[in-house]
Amino acid sequence: MIKPNRILKAAADVFFPQHLKCHCCNREAVVNEQGICSECEGKLLYVPILPQLYGVDGFSAGLMYNEPVRNALVSFKFNGAVYKKEFFAHYMQVPPEWTADCIVPVPLCASRMKERGYNQSALLAREVSKRCGLPLREELLKRVRETEKQSLMTHDQRLKNLKGAFRASEDCRGLSIILIDDIKTTGATLCECSKELKKRGAARVYALCACCAMEKGSGNE
Ligand SMILES: [Zn+2]
Repeated sequence: MIKPNRILKAAADVFFPQHLKCHCCNREAVVNEQGICSECEGKLLYVPILPQLYGVDGFSAGLMYNEPVRNALVSFKFNGAVYKKEFFAHYMQVPPEWTADCIVPVPLCASRMKERGYNQSALLAREVSKRCGLPLREELLKRVRETEKQSLMTHDQRLKNLKGAFRASEDCRGLSIILIDDIKTTGATLCECSKELKKRGAARVYALCACCAMEKGSGNE
C-alpha cells in the first residue's frame, strides 16, 4: 500500500514545484533533481569521448567547463558552497571497464586547506566512493610541499611547479586507484600524482574529474 504522506508529497511536487536557487546561475527558479534550472541545464555539455591523458591509465570527466559549470565550481571551491558536491558527483561516472580498488582525492596544500577549510576534491571523492562502493583511501597521497597558484601557468610550468609536491604511501603497492580532482585543465596535476603513486608501486592509476577545461589556462586550480 502506498503511504498517504507519499501521495501528499507527490501531489505537492506537481502543484508546488520546488523553487530553489540554481547551482549554476544562483537565481531562484524551478530546478531539476540535480538542482539546476532549465536554462542552465540546456547549456550543460557532457564530456565527449576524451583523448587519453598522458601519465594515467584512463581518464574521464563529467561536464565541460563552460560558463554555468564555472559558476557552480567557483562557489563550490572558493565560497563554501560544499553542498554542490552532490551536483558534480552526479556526473562523475566510473567507466565500467575500469577495475579499481579504491578512490584517492588530489590533496590540497596546507595553506589553502587552512584558508578554505576543506578540500573540494576530497568532498567529491567521498561522494564518488559512496556512489560506486569503492573505499576512500585519502591517506595514500599527501601534499608535502606548498606550490604556487597555477591558473595562468602553461603545462610545462605546472609540471615544474608540482615536482615533488606529492608523497604517496607504500600502502598503495599493487592497488588500482581512481584519482579524483574537481577540474582537469592541462592534466599536469593528475600526471604528477599518478607518477608518484606509481613510483610507490600502484598498479594502475585512473583519473576522474568533475569537469574538463579544453583550453589552456582556462581553469582555476
Ligand atoms: Zn540556472
